[in-house]
Amino acid sequence: MTYNEKYVSILRQHDFKVTLPRVKLLEILDGSGEPLSAFDIHKTLSKHGTDLATIYRSLSKFVEAGLLNKIDFGDEFSRYELATNEHYHHFICNECGKVIKIHQCNFDKLSKDIEKVAGHKVLSHEIIFRGICNECVSVASVAH
Ligand SMILES: [Zn+2]
Ligand SMILES: [Zn+2]
Repeated sequence: MTYNEKYVSILRQHDFKVTLPRVKLLEILDGSGEPLSAFDIHKTLSKHGTDLATIYRSLSKFVEAGLLNKIDFGDEFSRYELATNEHYHHFICNECGKVIKIHQCNFDKLSKDIEKVAGHKVLSHEIIFRGICNECVSVASVAH
């Protein structure tokens, strides 16, 4: 069994013991392209004999250490993704449930306005866009 070096070094950087489930967990999240719930991860990791409780434990430790971002889309599951320095938001399609990263952001101006008008110090913002993704829009227009 080969351990992917990229994830081994991420674990070492954060003083985590390197285990196969931990390496696999990071690999699954990194490769998915969208945030995953513990159940999504379990679908793949259970093949390696990893139970859901272990996955939850690793996820919460990784969030605490700043390795992962925990995202709440307002449904029953928290989702997780690898933390990066990039700034982006999420778009969720109401039709197919796909989660897409949106890299455009002009909320800095709004933050400055809030600071100017109300005097609050804005440190960050979280925005979730909901709608119909470009693929579902084109399927709908073909059907009509
Ligand atoms: Zn869609
Ligand atoms: Zn933003």
